[in-house]
Amino acid sequence: MIRAVAFDLDNTLINFMGFKRKSALAAARAMARNGLKGAPGKVAKEIFEVYDEYGIEYEKTFSTYLWKKGIRDFNEFEKIQQAAIVAYLDSQFHVLKPYRGVVPLLKRLRKRGLKICLVTDATRKNAWRRLAVSGLQGLFDVVVTHDDTGEFKPHPSPFRILLRKTRLKPEQIIFVGDNPHRDILGAKKMGMRTALADYGCEWPKKGATKADFVLRRFGELEKIISGI
Ligand SMILES: [Mg+2]
Repeated sequence: MIRAVAFDLDNTLINFMGFKRKSALAAARAMARNGLKGAPGKVAKEIFEVYDEYGIEYEKTFSTYLWKKGIRDFNEFEKIQQAAIVAYLDSQFHVLKPYRGVVPLLKRLRKRGLKICLVTDATRKNAWRRLAVSGLQGLFDVVVTHDDTGEFKPHPSPFRILLRKTRLKPEQIIFVGDNPHRDILGAKKMGMRTALADYGCEWPKKGATKADFVLRRFGELEKIISGI
């Protein structure tokens, strides 16, 4: 019997990539208004190239980008960088949201006595900020972040912490995530049931680990849990 539902955060509970795309464009526009040359659409694309190189969680994106653009006047540099950061944070507050139905469903599952858990590769600070911005911060019994282990899924460590904190066996947990490698393979190797958050999945599925269930919408999870 399933006793806990464990979720990945980005692109599983919140529309993280949608936010990243919109915030890159908002930052590009702010930089253009503050003196950076180049069409915002092109600048936004180049910001994503920085993410591709350094990772989506990279925290010096705008300074790395401006340095690459050859801006060496430090006041000019900081003026453009801070405008970009403010635009990024502003879009975080307005764009980063849970997928449709997430909050009521998490509340209903909790009411049914299931433990609601989060296992994210985000840092503790970023995870809690995203949870606070999206209004999800009060809904979890267990939260495991990258800071707890220093390892990324599919490494067993984050999953082991989940088992220890819930005091459950792997077969009592269903793990929901958008990443076939990190989430699905990682949880499967531990012996948990798995559900792919297909609505948020932007990863290639060819040759990827198959989940036990595939969610086209978040709300489909309720029926799946009732059936197992
Ligand atoms: Mg994810």
